[in-house]
Amino acid sequence: MQDKTRCVTRVPVSVEGFDSLTVPLYRASTIRYPDARSFMSRFERGADDYIYGLYGTPTHRYLEKKITELEGGARTLLAPSGQAAITCSILGVVETGDRVLIPDAVYGPVRDFAEHELVALGIETVFYDPCDLQALEKELETKTRLVWVESPGSVTMEMQDVPAIVRMAHAKGSLVGCDNTWASPLNFKPLEHGADIVVEALSKHFGGHSDLLMGSITVRDEQLGLDLKAVLGRLGIGTSPDDCVLVARGIDTLAVRLAHSAAGALKIAKWLQEQPLIEAVLHPELPGFSGHELWRRDFSGAAGVFSFTLHPEAMVHIPPALDALELISIGASWGGTKSLIAPVDVKSLRTAKPWTGAEFILRLSVGMEAADDLVADLDRFLGVVRKNVSSNGEAEAMDHEVPEAAK
Ligand SMILES: *Cc1c(COP(=O)(O)O)cnc(C)c1O
Repeated sequence: MQDKTRCVTRVPVSVEGFDSLTVPLYRASTIRYPDARSFMSRFERGADDYIYGLYGTPTHRYLEKKITELEGGARTLLAPSGQAAITCSILGVVETGDRVLIPDAVYGPVRDFAEHELVALGIETVFYDPCDLQALEKELETKTRLVWVESPGSVTMEMQDVPAIVRMAHAKGSLVGCDNTWASPLNFKPLEHGADIVVEALSKHFGGHSDLLMGSITVRDEQLGLDLKAVLGRLGIGTSPDDCVLVARGIDTLAVRLAHSAAGALKIAKWLQEQPLIEAVLHPELPGFSGHELWRRDFSGAAGVFSFTLHPEAMVHIPPALDALELISIGASWGGTKSLIAPVDVKSLRTAKPWTGAEFILRLSVGMEAADDLVADLDRFLGVVRKNVSSNGEAEAMDHEVPEAAK
């Protein structure tokens, strides 16, 4: 055998006795078959057998199984992003002529998908007020194939009564899909509350380090799982095993990271509530928040992500003041080790119930830093807003109520 041939032939290496503490990384497009007959009958293999890299390696199986266990489901499928997990879940169950109900506070790009691809496919989307069960019930009819829920809602944090929605939807023969990214299965298990599909944006808490994109779809019914697996395969949706290893590593510390950021977020939320410039703090764990009772009833914990708004006179001063932050970065996404803040304009993203609150909302994702350091950073930000509000106030309107400095 020449060296150039030797370079590409596989050498047998035993894995006997190699029981790694970590998740083994298997990279592969191709699986070798022992003989022609087994290759020719490969599509008769079971859903967990190995056919081709796109349909999963042992590394994928590990992550799928781990998430299935955490969600309490029958089967998990992986998608290249949380957004892909949502769109594939929807595409996998709806047909032309069907209706899909989507909450008004849904993750923004899902609205975009509904307004483009679903429209093009002749699938009707109705956006509903996430907190109005009666309005939702009126929209449920036999051709409603799927009710999507996301609790709490993106940015505005509305809590949904998932068990009640499941009862109503199932009574009309509709499936229920839940975006559970905020809670993660450690704090809420939608399948145990009757949902048929649960999606996690693994890019957030699971990955946990802002360095990957992935999503998961977990289902309660094995047949639905097999059907969706076939859909993802036909669409060519696959994920990198390298990223699966990173998500699996993230899961090792998921519980402690969630607990740390949730505790920090609550401390910061309570501090914000006391600051005169703050109009509202939108966080399900706060007793005064509208969805607090639902959160207490159904969830076993919170996450480190919440939103807040400032009084109208402060609004114009927010963008330059955000630049004063030293520790908290300005950016989208959340659930990583480093704290993030994002100013979000939700007005154009609400159609069922017009948004009448603040012009834009600040969403904060609390990372692994000490909460006191983050409070000091936010105090720096509010200090700049305060300074600009009062100099504006003096210059423009003497009768304008200017909030007192916090300290
Ligand atoms: C970020 C996010 C998604 C999408 O996840 P990507 O992996 O970034 O596509 C979906 N739902 C919610 C609630 C999110 O916050």
